[in-house]
Amino acid sequence: MIDKKKMSDFSLESKFVHGYDGIDPLTGAVSFPIYQTSTYKNPALGSDIKYTYTRSGNPTRNELECAIALYEGGTDGFAFSTGLAAVLSVFSLLKSGDHVIISDDIYGGVHRLIEELWRDYGVEFDYVDIGDVDAVKKLVKKNTKMIYAETPTNPMMKVADIKALSEISKPIGAYLVVDNTFLTPYFQRPIELGADIVIHSATKYLAGHHDTMAGLVVVNDEKTADRIKLIQKTEGTGLAPFDCWLLLRGMKTLELRMKRHEENAIKIAEWLKNNKNVEKVYFVGLPEHPSYEVTKRQCSGFGGMLSFTLKDEKMVEKALCGYKMIMFAESLGGATTLITYPMTQTHNSVPEEVRNKLGITNKLIRLSVGIEPAEDIIKDLESVLGKNE
Ligand SMILES: *Cc1c(COP(=O)(O)O)cnc(C)c1O
Repeated sequence: MIDKKKMSDFSLESKFVHGYDGIDPLTGAVSFPIYQTSTYKNPALGSDIKYTYTRSGNPTRNELECAIALYEGGTDGFAFSTGLAAVLSVFSLLKSGDHVIISDDIYGGVHRLIEELWRDYGVEFDYVDIGDVDAVKKLVKKNTKMIYAETPTNPMMKVADIKALSEISKPIGAYLVVDNTFLTPYFQRPIELGADIVIHSATKYLAGHHDTMAGLVVVNDEKTADRIKLIQKTEGTGLAPFDCWLLLRGMKTLELRMKRHEENAIKIAEWLKNNKNVEKVYFVGLPEHPSYEVTKRQCSGFGGMLSFTLKDEKMVEKALCGYKMIMFAESLGGATTLITYPMTQTHNSVPEEVRNKLGITNKLIRLSVGIEPAEDIIKDLESVLGKNE
């Protein structure tokens, strides 16, 4: 359990820069060291030492885990080898016979985790439009143990009202899990809004440079913390020390990057809206987005992710690959602007009929707006989509 009061005289932004302990307690090193070791020497037989074996604990990982818990306002953090390993650890809180209510346009990999593995383990899953609180309420059953929301969702940018969902989950004693990958604790802190567990694919904004894979889980009570700790050490999914360090380094600039991602995304969403080849723009920061008000209420920003549809599907190939700077690649949240085709990339494992129902069609393109100057990104987009009048 962390000391939630750590650095409490200072802003969240300063906490991002300083980490949890920040320095190496042994040497004072200002860059927290990479404890590249698998095991630790025991001083004596039966001695009670904090670290015994890196699968169960490592000082660099511990620094990262305490830091993310501090940023999310939880009691404990846990670092995993990927975002999906983090999701797996949270699913491992469930037992056969349990029921889960989950966002319908969930990340494709989570969909595959459910359909290829977890349904066969006897856990029931119901998909729902997570923005529709009444629809969620209607799905609650005696065995509902978890409500799981990605918000905003990927790639359709639907928004869950976290507080309203917690009012459903709390009385029935179910976990409310929020995947906070898209907004990060800089823009959204789900635990303060009533969530029990926060998940991150830290591969994205938290690491921020498209150079490492990582997942994080933050919880806010001792019982869940003990269980996730046991799961992490038992499933063997903990994050390696070097990657923990990359993440600690990446998070130092989280505020600067998130501000720039958002500033750029607002400009680009406006530009796309006025482009003759674009049919529709999905961005939570546009006042006409159906969840603009909820977003303003529960978040301090809109982030840097947006999707749009083209009017003409014949333009798709060029609109994905025809740039000098913007790269056609999976993933999101790094310094570089990436463009993605959800239908064949991130959501390839989602059945066609489900994709169509959600709006993930052959004309849908997702943009992870990077931190290059917005003018340059727009110039590159113009070269393919044409200039606005
Ligand atoms: C990428 C992503 C994941 C999976 O994370 P990995 O690090 O790729 O394993 C989960 N949720 C969301 C919202 C994501 O974008």
